[in-house]
Amino acid sequence: MTDSPRIDTHCPYCALQCAMTIENGRVSPREFPTNRGGLCQKGWTSAELLTSPKRLTTPLVRRDGELRPASWDEALDLVADKLRELREVHGPDSVGVFGGGGLTNEKSYLLGKFARVALGTSQIDYNGRFCMSSAAAAGMKAFGLDRGMPFPVTDLDNAGAILLVGGNPAETMPPFVQHLRNAELIVIDPRRTATAELATLHLQPAPGTDLALALGLLHTAVADGYLDKQYLSDRTTGFDDAWRIAATWWPERVERVTGVPVADQRAAVRILAEAANAYILTGRGTEQHASGADTVSAWINLAMALGLPGTKGSGYGCLTGQGNGQGGREHGQKADQLPGYRKIDDPAAREHIQGIWGVDDLPGPGRSAYELLDALGQPDGPKALLVFGSNVIVSAPRSQHVADRLKALDLLVVADLVLSDTAAVADVVLPITQWAEESGTMTNLEGRVLLRQVAVAPPEGVRSDLDVMQGLATRLGQPAERFPTEPEVVFEELRRASEGGLADYSGVTYERLRQGEALHWPVVEESTPRNFLDRFAHADGMARFIPVEHRGPAELPDADYPLQATTGRVLQHYQSGAQTRLVRELNQAEPEAYVEVHPDTAVRAGLGNGQLAAVVSRRGRTLARVRCVPSMLIDVVFLPFHYAGDGRANLLTNPVLDPTSRMPEFKVCAVRLESV
Ligand code: SF4
Repeated sequence: MTDSPRIDTHCPYCALQCAMTIENGRVSPREFPTNRGGLCQKGWTSAELLTSPKRLTTPLVRRDGELRPASWDEALDLVADKLRELREVHGPDSVGVFGGGGLTNEKSYLLGKFARVALGTSQIDYNGRFCMSSAAAAGMKAFGLDRGMPFPVTDLDNAGAILLVGGNPAETMPPFVQHLRNAELIVIDPRRTATAELATLHLQPAPGTDLALALGLLHTAVADGYLDKQYLSDRTTGFDDAWRIAATWWPERVERVTGVPVADQRAAVRILAEAANAYILTGRGTEQHASGADTVSAWINLAMALGLPGTKGSGYGCLTGQGNGQGGREHGQKADQLPGYRKIDDPAAREHIQGIWGVDDLPGPGRSAYELLDALGQPDGPKALLVFGSNVIVSAPRSQHVADRLKALDLLVVADLVLSDTAAVADVVLPITQWAEESGTMTNLEGRVLLRQVAVAPPEGVRSDLDVMQGLATRLGQPAERFPTEPEVVFEELRRASEGGLADYSGVTYERLRQGEALHWPVVEESTPRNFLDRFAHADGMARFIPVEHRGPAELPDADYPLQATTGRVLQHYQSGAQTRLVRELNQAEPEAYVEVHPDTAVRAGLGNGQLAAVVSRRGRTLARVRCVPSMLIDVVFLPFHYAGDGRANLLTNPVLDPTSRMPEFKVCAVRLESV
């Protein structure tokens, strides 16, 4: 790739969406509020995949058990014929669609429309269900609106104190850490992570006990006289019910359940409450539990007791993970949602969207992500699945079971830029364009809409997801103009569809974005960088305390499985690793699955540093190399979830779901260690 023009764009990976310039096939960082000229190792090396020999450039169709090259017409005709046949025999819900939080806003929007209009199916959900859903559900309950971080990232620069629970940005999004440097930082994490190393105070609860800790910190806040009574009466309702439960979580009880010393509980509350400006931020570590939504509600309750949300210079926010984790959950690729963050069972929402799409009716709510995967190939479940921007064989919980379900399908279609682990078992693989080869908008972790522009020409033979949707829709009898392929045209329709919804993009235009305007939604005319300063989004303008009780992990250690496993990320890899494992420098740095173990635990299991171990749960067995880490809790092991094959951490994880968000319990399950 030579002599390509200098184009401003944003990183293809996480939700910080660092600004970069791409020229002659090389990226360089660009000044922008979120990254201030910084990039992490993933961002610096992101251009490598544009010219990777692993890149798919022709459709593949499985014949005689092998994936073989095919023309686009052959591949799309085959898929459309099979979908038509399945729908005729089994009905429209026999086809499922699985989207992703890395898809642009335009793709997320058109995918929801494609599923519900062209396929007529209710069976659509996306991998963001595995990522942000607990925080989203809790934010909706408390504030009436889910904008993960309802203030610009740069507001954190002026914080006196920040409590960060279950997040490790020093590895997941390193340039973000510069926004934490001026504050006294309290980190809550069962591991002593790179972020915990930067903290003033590190609380190290046992996995799955965060809810008890949040209740305990609320108890301490009240007992130590930090309750903001004026804020409670002016801006919230429901404190008394929440307090009735927190009142029973006195510090010594919290210490017994969580392992966090009383003195540390009190210090955390004091630092937070006595700072002039303070924030509570949550990440996946506290959210990915079967009690994830309630756990986030407990942290929001604490934030409200201290008078933080919706206050200038203070607040609550969650750290969105995937590149378009925020936008990806607003435009209708969720099982229960229509564009504009509208509920699919709301008659007024349905009527509005039916009017925009020119249809008389729409399917109702479908299954959540894991329930959809679990139903594949079953008598009442989908017989075909179309996957866009997701690698479920690595990223879904109980992943061997998911792989077996995929095998039970009549048709698996995967649109991806490389032969991901899921694409490798598909019947049809469709090669698609990637970030720098297409335009489209992303909404970053602070609700800011960003425009990615075409920086390089795509390789011959690939098409965009929008082309794929139109190609299939027209073969299924839809008019081509109902499924535009030009991102700006799709965005114009998205604007109208979002109008009047919670996530209102009606005032966002490509033109305004090209001019560099900072547009945080909702945008009718003006941008809203900070939500809730005057009122929360509930009809009465008040935020709600949500009474929640502690529930421990669904699976506790026992004689057969005496340890607890928790999972997370490393600096060099992104999500399922389908992209970053193909980047030479990243793969060299972290090439294989590993398990962090306390040295005494390793000795007890007859293992030494660097030895290959089997980590075994009730659902599977993962092979990982032992890293002895003295700061690990003695009965806890940690595995990164970016690896494929026998190294999949999700072979172990428990798919028990949060009753509200349908989030699986990724962050804790019972395991044992064996030598191999
Ligand atoms: Fe920035 Fe995230 Fe990309 Fe790293 S992966 S460069 S932190 S956007």
